[in-house]
Amino acid sequence: MKNLFMQIILYYYNQGGEFMEEKTILYIEGDGIGPYIMKPAMKVWDAAFRHIYNEDKKIKWKEILAGKKALKEYGKLLPEETLELLKKYKIGIKGPLETPVGSGYRSLNVAMRQKLDLYACIRPVKYMKGINAPVKSPEDVNIVIFRENTEDVYAGIEWEENSKESNELIKILNEKFGVNLKKSSIGIKPISEFKTKRLMKKAIEYAIENKRKKITIVHKGNIMKYTEGNFRNWCYEVAKEYDLEKYNIKVNDIIADNMFQQLLLNPANFDILVTPNLNGDYLSDAAAAQVGGIGIVPGANIGDEIALFEPTHGTAPGIKEPKMANPTSLILSGVLLFEYMGYRTVAELIQKALEKTIQEGYLTQDLANKKQKSLSAEEFAEKIILNFINI
Ligand code: NAP
Repeated sequence: MKNLFMQIILYYYNQGGEFMEEKTILYIEGDGIGPYIMKPAMKVWDAAFRHIYNEDKKIKWKEILAGKKALKEYGKLLPEETLELLKKYKIGIKGPLETPVGSGYRSLNVAMRQKLDLYACIRPVKYMKGINAPVKSPEDVNIVIFRENTEDVYAGIEWEENSKESNELIKILNEKFGVNLKKSSIGIKPISEFKTKRLMKKAIEYAIENKRKKITIVHKGNIMKYTEGNFRNWCYEVAKEYDLEKYNIKVNDIIADNMFQQLLLNPANFDILVTPNLNGDYLSDAAAAQVGGIGIVPGANIGDEIALFEPTHGTAPGIKEPKMANPTSLILSGVLLFEYMGYRTVAELIQKALEKTIQEGYLTQDLANKKQKSLSAEEFAEKIILNFINI
């Protein structure tokens, strides 16, 4: 009887009920360095949660499979069960996934974003003291990039030169639309009002909630007038629906190429950036490099119902000893996850302890200079946990 009662409580909790005792978070370990950073990151998340809530609230990690582990178990890189569980539990965190060449998937990550309609790729890029960054004033970088995640030329509508599809398409374009195209590979770039507007809404609501003061729309509308140009126009239309003066939030726009140099020269002028898919892809990694590299910047893919958090880097096949990989990007993706779930104190604790650890000079090999001893992912995580009592 008691067991049944407990089950009912847990069921309520997992369904978002009011008396929550335990919250289930899904995780995908990832390929390559994935398992080597997931284990220590999870130790940090669990220890922080315990530090704040003791036994009052709990999180439970439930593994779901994707990538090589899923291929081994299910014969598929992205099993239906994984997608179904993400739809059911609505929240998860993943390690990086490799898409094996010739797998039938352009990218597992792109497939997940599209199948789950995770339309906003959110990347906060902020300098942390103690990191060797390649620019003069990295401390001026404190931006959040909102990149559209499901359309644009990057999102996967593409055919190879001389394929049946590209030849047919070229024929139609030439005969019906007066274009003069020779044999070529073709990529299609849809940018829609609906998908642009929902992204801009997310960015505005984030700005209001987090007291951000400026939203910059990044586009290439001077050249691509109906896709990127309308991206800009639709974003402004959404902005007009809000009383942004009340929150002291300004909205402006900038051409993508200029954005790259302005971010290097005057990073303090930027706060939130809203971008189509491809521009955002370039910009996210460039901005990350400006504060020290993709090993330290977190990411989130968020839709209306489901949120999937992930580090910005890939499986890092170039790292000879995977246990020496930097878990920071994944740990901070967990910080975003806790913020999203409303566990702000847990998020703050991890963020502060991690920053303190870096300031004390404890670094992984990607960040340590020749004079500094570099820590493994496990050792770095332990230092963060030890710092919880100093926050
Ligand atoms: P990458 O895995 O991000 O690695 C590029 C380089 O960045 C690494 O070789 C390493 O540099 C450094 N690096 C990345 N993460 C690091 C970490 N945590 N700690 C220390 N250094 C780190 O990019 P890639 O080599 O282009 O892609 C490899 C695979 O990952 C591909 O299959 C790709 O499809 C996949 N990928 C997946 C995702 C995702 O799951 N979201 C994202 C991007 C790429 P050094 O070698 O110089 O040490």
